[in-house]
Amino acid sequence: CGIVGVTGNDNAVKILVEGLQKLEYRGYDSAGIYVNDQKGNDYLVKTKGRISQLREKITPDVHGSTGIGHTRWATHGVVSVDNAHPHFSNDDRFYLVHNGVIDNFQEIKAQYLSDVPFRSQTDTEVVVQLIDKFAVEDNLDAKSAFLKALSLLKGSYAFLLMDREQPDTLFVAKNKSPLLVGVADGFNVVCSDAMAMLRETHDFLEIMDGEVVTVTPNDVKIQDADGNPVERKTYHVDMNA
Ligand code: GLU
Repeated sequence: CGIVGVTGNDNAVKILVEGLQKLEYRGYDSAGIYVNDQKGNDYLVKTKGRISQLREKITPDVHGSTGIGHTRWATHGVVSVDNAHPHFSNDDRFYLVHNGVIDNFQEIKAQYLSDVPFRSQTDTEVVVQLIDKFAVEDNLDAKSAFLKALSLLKGSYAFLLMDREQPDTLFVAKNKSPLLVGVADGFNVVCSDAMAMLRETHDFLEIMDGEVVTVTPNDVKIQDADGNPVERKTYHVDMNA
């Protein structure tokens, strides 16, 4: 299982799919991508099986400059297209990929989302519906809604979140699952393993548990669990793809 993301590059689809291909060694049962072109067009493609099957489902119209991708190792819910990531909120606003397991997703579903229809059996969909609920009902922006949802979660996760209202931004958080931000020339990437993005950059930023990171085409903002800005230098990975 693995996660990739990119923002600020018109070849987002290619970068995501090639990144997922590099993560194949981690093992997975399904895969998917979501991309947005910043002009109101966005695309979601999901499949069971291999990255080659994902490639076959990506028609020529699928394009964008910001996007997220996922390979799934099913923990909650059967292997199916509906259970494949990215998952999205019922108003089609938020898109989320997740590696890991949310231990208390049943409790959260019962407490906050009893009136919400679900299309998958995953723990992950609970999180994206929860973010949307907080955004809409409490009138929060994506980052605040994400923070509020994170504060309720128990378990392991690497998350990459997109909001159609801020389509060039990747929201990143992790707990016990790996995730890195890669700083490229004029754009930025996110990945569970530097291997996935060595074609794009060799300069990476480590993300710590509890931090929330906002990645835009020209900027990476890290904040700690208390909301304070964090300064961090990139490290260089001396390896080739
Ligand atoms: N728990 C999530 C699921 O079953 C994510 C699994 C993964 O890490 O790929 O969909």
